[in-house]
Amino acid sequence: MKYDIKINKTTAPKARPEDESKLGFGRIFTDHMFLMDYNTEEGWHDARIVPFGPLPIHPASTVLHYGAEVFEGMKAYRAADGSIQLFRPMENVKRLNKSAERLCLPELDEEGCLDIIKTIVELEKDWVPHSEGTSLYIRPYLFGNDPHLGVHAVKNATFAIICCPVGAYYAEGLNPVKIAIESEDVRAVRGGTGYAKCGGNYAASLRAGERAERNGYTQVLWLDGVDRKYIEEVGAMNVMFKISGKIITPALTGSVLPGITRKSCVELLKDWGYEVEERLFSVDELFDALENGTLEEAWGTGTAAVVSPIGNLFYQGKEYTVSDNKIGELTQKLYDNLTGIQWGKVEDTHGWIEPVCNG
Ligand SMILES: *Cc1c(COP(=O)(O)O)cnc(C)c1O
Repeated sequence: MKYDIKINKTTAPKARPEDESKLGFGRIFTDHMFLMDYNTEEGWHDARIVPFGPLPIHPASTVLHYGAEVFEGMKAYRAADGSIQLFRPMENVKRLNKSAERLCLPELDEEGCLDIIKTIVELEKDWVPHSEGTSLYIRPYLFGNDPHLGVHAVKNATFAIICCPVGAYYAEGLNPVKIAIESEDVRAVRGGTGYAKCGGNYAASLRAGERAERNGYTQVLWLDGVDRKYIEEVGAMNVMFKISGKIITPALTGSVLPGITRKSCVELLKDWGYEVEERLFSVDELFDALENGTLEEAWGTGTAAVVSPIGNLFYQGKEYTVSDNKIGELTQKLYDNLTGIQWGKVEDTHGWIEPVCNG
């Protein structure tokens, strides 16, 4: 089912950034945004693309008081022939609905949601940057919007999409990052909202992230919320380790976000003949592998950075170096293949690419 999208184009288009090396992340927005409202009587209605601008919001709105919000993060890429494409967008749509279900927010028709995403990307196609490594970041988000303070499943909601041209994540090539293992704060617990992509998880993770940054680390490596023993994620990325030739990644226990990059890496690694273990993986096991020299590579995976090599690990007063603080061979191969498929330079044998329009 497709939603009936009304398009109200801006009469004052903005100047697009000329220097694509200075795009950064999430600070520049395109000319339009998508909005759609929900209430229990009418369901989803009034799908519209309007000029980008502030959202009026009731001071009692559910999202402001109880954090009822879920979101997605995906990118539109410009291929060599100028055409514009998405990477596994239906995975984002399905995950958005799973996140919404966890927070008692209304779900979207999947085909309809994908059609909305393609419609706004096509309308904003001139905003998809051209330089190597750049893309148009797409942020769909859905929030509870009841105009009163009672605590219950919402009767009113809003679905919105905003888009930002974003720069190459690694301006100076694929650099290994320093990671602090967090033993105090936790991001999520089993039975909680860890598997949902919701704003609340990020709010809970900010303090440890700030602390790590103050101490000179880029990201936090999260341990499970019950035993503080099992590795879950690194920052807002999933994490993988190569130990004695095998790949180990934390199992999706409910507190780990099921990343689409994670899933794609697992599929590629299996294609290449690697054994991939999705299981509970403890910090003790990680440090055994570090100490006996069997830890070959470690990296994070996520849409923003694609693959992020880990060069240093800090835990309880000690610092350890991984892969001599260099990018591992397999980490680089994953990065090259995934980005190659996304930018249309490597053949897409999995059917992961969804074309949107010509350039
Ligand atoms: C979005 C996200 C990821 C990565 O998911 P991708 O689909 O690969 O972008 C990992 N962890 C958290 C907490 C996230 O929010």
